[in-house]
Amino acid sequence: MQTPDAGLSLETITVGAGYDPASAGGAAKPPAYLTSTFVYPSAAAAKDLHAAFFDGAATTAKGWIYGRLGHPNLDIVEARLAALDGAEDTACFASGMAAVSAALLALLGPGDTVLMSRPIYGGTDALIGGELPRFGIRGFGFADGCDADAIRRAADEAQAAGPIGLIWIETPANPTAAVVDIALVARIADEIGVATGRRPLVAVDNTFLGPFVQRPLAHGADLVMTSLTKYAGGHSDLLAGGLSGSAALIARLKAFRTLVGSTLDAHSAWLLTRSLETMHLRTERAAANAAAIAGFLADHPKVASVTWLGFLGQGTPARAAFERQASGAGSTFSFRIRGGEAEAFRLLDALQVLKMAVSLGGTETLICHPASTTHYAVPRARREAAGIDDATLRVSVGIEAAADLIADLSRALEAV
Ligand SMILES: *Cc1c(COP(=O)(O)O)cnc(C)c1O
Repeated sequence: MQTPDAGLSLETITVGAGYDPASAGGAAKPPAYLTSTFVYPSAAAAKDLHAAFFDGAATTAKGWIYGRLGHPNLDIVEARLAALDGAEDTACFASGMAAVSAALLALLGPGDTVLMSRPIYGGTDALIGGELPRFGIRGFGFADGCDADAIRRAADEAQAAGPIGLIWIETPANPTAAVVDIALVARIADEIGVATGRRPLVAVDNTFLGPFVQRPLAHGADLVMTSLTKYAGGHSDLLAGGLSGSAALIARLKAFRTLVGSTLDAHSAWLLTRSLETMHLRTERAAANAAAIAGFLADHPKVASVTWLGFLGQGTPARAAFERQASGAGSTFSFRIRGGEAEAFRLLDALQVLKMAVSLGGTETLICHPASTTHYAVPRARREAAGIDDATLRVSVGIEAAADLIADLSRALEAV
């Protein structure tokens, strides 16, 4: 069995990590263990298993008890993702938002504050702004994630309302591609720790780039959240989320997961394990397609602007942070058509190959109009401040032939 410390490349690790064929009758690939419960071999073994689960190191018993607590497919996918993220351990959840809520609810207490980058995923924003205040937890945002003074100002404001328990950042942001400097945020967390005696944990939503392109733990983050529904699942056929970090932090999150019941199910875990084997190939191909499409759009007279990461201005703090912490520009970006909603809708309705849907990271290219879909519930002023207006379209580029995608866009732009 390949282990994370075997000195192998991520591309090799992702094909085998976490699974030993000898554990399943020599099956070359992991079976899907579609069972909700596990039979104990003896009463004493049952007691040992419970002692191992609830008391940690008390016994060396290995096995499973009940699907919500853990199961073989979960162990395999978590070992694989931990290796990819460069983490001691990973916890997988029934969706990305189940992972986000576990982190926020398990690691924060009444009176704590959350410091966060803006714009941030709508679900995360609604959870922090709409649900956490009932538990006495408040969120404070900063808009320029590469400006130390702006982050420190927001931190001071948060700290005045209560101790900062968690700094939650998303980089690059959706759909504006705003970059947050992970190492800078980690340094500011250290400063807060020195000043207050409590160092906030730094969590990074890494959904847009994933572990082959950006590994936040290596830049000082404590926790990486990934919506595995997107590039990791990669085929738009499952929902899953992951949190990677230190063994102690992940143990706490797994205990919380058992109680709220948001464990990833065996079938999705099995699909995800298979998907991780090709993630690097899919993300490379999609990124190459995205570069070609971004170039085509940037040169088109009916397109006003393109926010593909590869176009970040040379010499800017965002470019420097992007080059330090990411090895590629990913394949989800936005562009603005000349005009407004009417022109955007005419383009969308004329497309034949690109599919009109929310979500991202699948093999197929998806396009949507954020103002009327993903960001429908965000008030116009907040939406526009975040760089999303009626002319903005978001595209998640898939692995089809780039020429077909460009021909479809070209034809549809003629129809606008
Ligand atoms: C989709 C997404 C999430 C939420 O993940 P789900 O799997 O849909 O629950 C969180 N963050 C980002 C950036 C996302 O794109």
